[in-house]
Amino acid sequence: MGVTRKDALRILGGTGVAAAAAALAPGSAASASGGGVIRRDVCVIGGGASGTYAAVRLRDLGHSVALVERAGRLGGHTETYHDPVTGGSTDIGVLIYHDQQLVRDFFDRFDVPLAPYTGQGGTSNSYVDFRTGEIVPGYTPPAPAALPAYIALLQQYPYLDQGFALPDPVPAELLLPFGEFMRLHQLESIAQMIFGYAQGLGDVLRIPAIYVLKNVSLSVINSVLSGSLLITERRDNGELYEKATAYFGGDALLGATVRQVHRGSRQIHVRVATPQGPRVIQCRKLVITVPPLLSTFDGFDLDGTERAIFGRFGYHHYWTAVARLGGIPAGVSLVNVGADTPYNLAPLPGFYGLTVTGVPDLWGVKYGATGPLSDSAVRAAIVADIRRLRTAGTYPVEFAGLEVFKAHNPFELVVRPGDIARGFYRRLYDLQGRNNTFYTGAAFHTHDSSLLWRFTEELLPRIAA
Ligand SMILES: Cc1cc2nc3c(=O)[nH]c(=O)nc-3n(C[C@H](O)[C@H](O)[C@H](O)COP(=O)(O)OP(=O)(O)OC[C@H]3O[C@@H](n4cnc5c(N)ncnc54)[C@H](O)[C@@H]3O)c2cc1C
Repeated sequence: MGVTRKDALRILGGTGVAAAAAALAPGSAASASGGGVIRRDVCVIGGGASGTYAAVRLRDLGHSVALVERAGRLGGHTETYHDPVTGGSTDIGVLIYHDQQLVRDFFDRFDVPLAPYTGQGGTSNSYVDFRTGEIVPGYTPPAPAALPAYIALLQQYPYLDQGFALPDPVPAELLLPFGEFMRLHQLESIAQMIFGYAQGLGDVLRIPAIYVLKNVSLSVINSVLSGSLLITERRDNGELYEKATAYFGGDALLGATVRQVHRGSRQIHVRVATPQGPRVIQCRKLVITVPPLLSTFDGFDLDGTERAIFGRFGYHHYWTAVARLGGIPAGVSLVNVGADTPYNLAPLPGFYGLTVTGVPDLWGVKYGATGPLSDSAVRAAIVADIRRLRTAGTYPVEFAGLEVFKAHNPFELVVRPGDIARGFYRRLYDLQGRNNTFYTGAAFHTHDSSLLWRFTEELLPRIAA
């Protein structure tokens, strides 16, 4: 097995000699649900969009896989709320996909039908400054006159749609704060549109333009303009991941915490705590799909290069909720706009909006911040903002509670413009394959499931080699 007794003790940490010997003994149970050592070709860490896709496709290519997920379910930022009152469902995270063959194939294989996205059943928007709870008089979003200019800019940088394989030097304007980039190219008329799409990216006027252009990408604009965005026909994106969970059976370790990772030259050992007890996954390759912050890698045997690179990342903050409300007319979504802010962008921390879900009496909440906030503070702010709609006399809102409240943090990992200029993403991408470890997930491209699946697909030959 290529593992010395000393290795075993290191891998198993404090579990003791007897446990180490037992766990590493030949013939230990090889099923993820059976205890002891799990021997697989590849261990995938993180069972969200990227990790689930990677694990499915690696199996297709004939590799055995263990999929380690910290939460009690697969899906990550994809989650569906099933309303016990009406029987309806609403996606509270990932909603829409691009019409790409790879996307259709992935949904088809799990028999989850797709349908064209035609909105959430909303009839109109009301533009409210949530700080006062009042409708902003006379506000309507400007006509997106600058959209052709924005598309032309995206076409100038086609590589942004593929990942972070950037030229050297990185074009200086991509590193400008997006607000400056916008003024340079007279894109002001689409500021509100960009802000509304790039939710979770914090202060879009201040973050480097490259992150905005990657998120509100050519793929996104083309899909919107051609009306080709897709949604799951049953309004249940979670179904994909439930079926994937069944497909993996004991190979998906849910509620699992990685305790220790040791990457030897021939074998990798991943020690995890699971609800069924400790497990050691013995594999040849590791695929990391979780946000690659140093805190994620507690217990990993990171080398100095990896540590230096991952230590550069910061991140943004994003929360969602589902509110049960009376008093807002059916079909009306409330968009947060600032009465007195640049381009009327909603001040953060604050609501992006209170959006129709297609389920009676349920509105989706999206909330962002430019810095860390406790979940309890955000929950309290959401409730106060909703109640203010009533006290301001805007809508006779009856607030029956938050059915769901969810923190999606850390969201959108970013580095400073100077780091990008100095080749951060080249060094990040150079990590692919180092220490038999591969990486995918939003930090390696952008927050877009369809594009992440394509990115992962393109990485597969290297993992499978
Ligand atoms: C509210 C919201 C709406 C969105 N809407 C859309 C949309 O409509 N369309 C779209 O394409 N994209 C959307 N996105 C973007 C979405 O984040 C990406 O599409 C995609 O889900 C990112 O995939 P990922 O694999 O990088 O991350 P995730 O899906 O978050 O997966 C990461 C997984 O790793 C797990 N994990 C984290 N740390 C550990 C650890 N230490 N050990 C083990 N497991 C760990 C997490 O629990 C999670 O399951 C939305 C995001 C949010 C938050």
